[in-house]
Amino acid sequence: MSIASNLQEIQDRIRLAARAAGRDPAAVRLVAVSKTRPTADVMEACRAGQSVFGENYVQELVAKAADVPETVEWHFIGHLQSNKVKQLAGLIAMIHSVDRLSLAEEISRQWGRLGRCCDILVQVNLSGETTKSGTTETEALQLVRDISALPYVRIRGLMTMPAFFDDPEAARPFFSELRRLSGRIESEGIPGVEMRELSMGMSGDFEAAIQEGATLVRVGTSIFGAR
Ligand SMILES: *Cc1c(COP(=O)(O)O)cnc(C)c1O
Repeated sequence: MSIASNLQEIQDRIRLAARAAGRDPAAVRLVAVSKTRPTADVMEACRAGQSVFGENYVQELVAKAADVPETVEWHFIGHLQSNKVKQLAGLIAMIHSVDRLSLAEEISRQWGRLGRCCDILVQVNLSGETTKSGTTETEALQLVRDISALPYVRIRGLMTMPAFFDDPEAARPFFSELRRLSGRIESEGIPGVEMRELSMGMSGDFEAAIQEGATLVRVGTSIFGAR
C-alpha cells in the first residue's frame, strides 16, 4: 500500500466515524505522525494532500522542516525538554505535550522573543502510570490556570495517550474522561483558555477517540507503515 492510498483510507475512516457519531467530519483533523520516517515519506504525504504532521524528536523535526515546503504545519507531540524549546520557536504550529509549568514558561519566553504566541495543549496522564508524560487529572486545572497567566502561550485544549492504545475499547474510557475534564476546565471560564481541541486517538483507536470527541487524531503506523 502506498502512503497516498493509506491516507485516503484513514480519511475515509475518519469521515465514517465522525458521521456515525453525528459529528461534522471537518471538525476532526488528521495529524500524520512522521517520526522516524524519512523526509521523502513526508513529501509523498504532502503530494497526497496531507498538510499537518506530528513529530516527537526536536532534532528530527528541525531537519525535516528545512526540507519540506513552508505550507506544512508541524505539531510537536513527544516529550519535550525545556532546553530544546528554543529550536522549535517559530517553526511549529502547536505543542501537544505540555505537562508542566516550567516547560510552558520556557515556551512563552522563546515565542515571546519572536513576538508570537504558541498554541499548546496540556497533556494529561489519565491512566496514572508514573512512567508516562502528562500531568495528573487532579493537577490539570491548576496547571491550566498557571499557564494561562503566561503572555506568549495560548491553551487550546487537552491531549492524552492511554496505555492501551492497541485496544480501542480499553482506551475509550480515557477518551471520554478527557472530554469530561475538558468540559470541567471550560466551565471555569479562565480568561484566554479555550478548550476547543481534544488530541486523542492513534492508529489502533482513532475511531473510538472520534466517537468520544477527538478533534485531532495522531496517526503514524497506519499511514507510513511499521516503525
Ligand atoms: C508515535 C505516536 C503516535 C502515533 O502512533 P501510531 O500507533 O503509529 O499511530 C501518536 N501520538 C504520539 C504521542 C506518539 O508518540
